[in-house]
Amino acid sequence: TKLIEIKGLSKVYATPNQRVIALDKVNLSVEKGEIFGIIGLSGAGKSTLIRCINMLETPTEGSIIVDGQEITSLNKRELRIARQKIGMIFQHFNLLSSRTVFDNVMFPLEIARVPRQEAAKRTRELLELVGLADRADAFPSQLSGGQKQRVGIARALANGPKLLLSDEATSALDPQTTRSILQLLRDINRQLNLTILLITHDMNVIKEVCDRVAVIDNSQIVEVGDVLSVFSSP
Ligand code: ADP
Ligand code: ADP
Repeated sequence: TKLIEIKGLSKVYATPNQRVIALDKVNLSVEKGEIFGIIGLSGAGKSTLIRCINMLETPTEGSIIVDGQEITSLNKRELRIARQKIGMIFQHFNLLSSRTVFDNVMFPLEIARVPRQEAAKRTRELLELVGLADRADAFPSQLSGGQKQRVGIARALANGPKLLLSDEATSALDPQTTRSILQLLRDINRQLNLTILLITHDMNVIKEVCDRVAVIDNSQIVEVGDVLSVFSSP
């Protein structure tokens, strides 16, 4: 079954002196439980696509269904609830520097008003899951890049999302750390049956971890398929 179904999605950025077509009638489906990659050059439209799915950007046209719900026409309250189904990780981690690892991971649970004791228990489990239980009291500045991204992943999973979005999550990491983070994503995908949609400009990321891939070029999806078939064509 499909977790994401996108039809005829367009996004136009209008500035006083120009119109930029960032997405042009994009169609895309992501199955439950798969790791789906979107690859494309800088400026192709990847971030815009992921920001539309995450409800940070309002599409100009088209439909986005996530977990059976049309998300392009929600009111504020519905948006807040729908966003809890989606976790996101970022290239530059976006951690709160004044909070410990523990408090960074617990933050979304506080926002969701989860009772303190339950939130703390869940936070400990999440830190265990990402292999950072022993760094709970550290601050982000005391961590390596890979450790910071592990915190980002734990935080993204805090509210038990159905979908994890990854925006160039390994682009700031060295190759070895990249592999360990991708391995963690693969483990989480299998353990939690969590659907992951990731965007990247790095073909190695796609080959290492994705089940299927879409190639985006100049605001359009130009190819979709199994990773092997897309990348083995002559
Ligand atoms: P990618 O993530 O693949 O690098 P983006 O989605 O960031 O691509 O950008 C797609 C196109 O839309 C680019 O031409 C970019 O300059 C433009 N764009 C992105 N965000 C905005 C914005 N807020 N205002 C105007 N143009 C934008
Ligand atoms: P990154 O590639 O590091 O994700 P970007 O440069 O694509 O960052 O975008 C950073 C921010 O600037 C985003 O919010 C994006 O929407 C916005 N942006 C990107 N391109 C443009 C543009 N041409 N005009 C205005 N805003 C833009």
